[in-house]
Amino acid sequence: MEHPENDLQYKGLQVNAGVQSQPITNPYKNRRRTATPALTVNDYVEGIRKGDVSILGRAVTLVESMAEQHQALAQEVIEKCLPFSGNSRRIGITGVPGAGKSTSIDVFGLHVIRNGGKLAVLAIDPSSERSKGSILGDKTRMEKLSLEKDAFIRPSPSAGSLGGVARKTRETIVLCEAAGYDNIFVETVGVGQSETAVHSMVDFFLLIQLAGTGDELQGIKRGIMEMADGIVINKADGDNIERAKLAASQFRNALFLFPPSPSKWKPEVITYSGYYEIGIDIVWDMIDRYFAFVKKTGYFERRRNEQAKYWMRETIDEQLRNHFYQVPEVRALLQQKEIRVLNNEQSSFTAARDVLDKYFEIISRNK
Ligand code: GDP
Repeated sequence: MEHPENDLQYKGLQVNAGVQSQPITNPYKNRRRTATPALTVNDYVEGIRKGDVSILGRAVTLVESMAEQHQALAQEVIEKCLPFSGNSRRIGITGVPGAGKSTSIDVFGLHVIRNGGKLAVLAIDPSSERSKGSILGDKTRMEKLSLEKDAFIRPSPSAGSLGGVARKTRETIVLCEAAGYDNIFVETVGVGQSETAVHSMVDFFLLIQLAGTGDELQGIKRGIMEMADGIVINKADGDNIERAKLAASQFRNALFLFPPSPSKWKPEVITYSGYYEIGIDIVWDMIDRYFAFVKKTGYFERRRNEQAKYWMRETIDEQLRNHFYQVPEVRALLQQKEIRVLNNEQSSFTAARDVLDKYFEIISRNK
């Protein structure tokens, strides 16, 4: 008998089979997650071509990975996607923190999508590399756009030098274009070198400015203004409208003094409000006219060709530098030489020469 207490002699007592108690820990916790199956180059390329967002995302992760085998795979995927790339408008967007980049990209992006476009938003955020934090932000950005199925938003790759991060973004552009995104925004913060990197991968460079501080023209580097194909003054709403207009005329005057840009396009200055969605179509009309203009003059092609050459050279520079600094003997000698230079025992130039000689010697020995 299973439960002796159920014997008739113990009337009034009924013991039932117990209920198994709940486990205290989550039984699924230790179960191994089934690994996502590895994809072949062709899986990636086909997925991307079909516009499969999850495969595109995985391919971008591959591009961003530092692991050598990922890099090799990524390069193959990029190579196979190249013939399907190029058919987009690449637009760089910069502005200091608080200028309203996210707010504006959200509405510019919706404008693009409402007009039948597909949009990828990429970013280059040099701050995330140095401080592990980022200026472009972990906060939820582009809230409306992130709900759109035709928008692909990817934060900045975080590891590596600015050059390395920029190269990854440039490669990601290729993948996004092959996936059918016909508008690519590349966003960056207007605080440093990253504008030059973005400028070298886009067709149109948009500078977002603010009015109302009284010293609009100070604080932005002349170089950044010179790169801009369009300057837009945000937050032209409420009692800020007049100040925005004033700032716009100051910018126009300043631009007047700049040498003509190689595209022969005269950069325009427009006021708008990203938050209240005022003037978005005017900004976009300028961008449409720019593309029509440079396609007609042939500058569009020329700039892209120049950029392709530039990126080839940049990649060579980056790989050479990486290779150089990875050779153990070179690193050891470099350390010794640094001490000698600091102690004034040797000049920087001859020390550099010695380290380079060592490097070339090792290279020829390994041939
Ligand atoms: P970001 O740092 O350049 O990305 O700037 P955000 O888009 O985060 O905007 C910074 C602040 O400015 C936020 O509080 C926005 O709500 C506000 N803002 C952005 N665009 C406008 C605008 O057109 N008008 C007004 N009044 N405020 C805006």
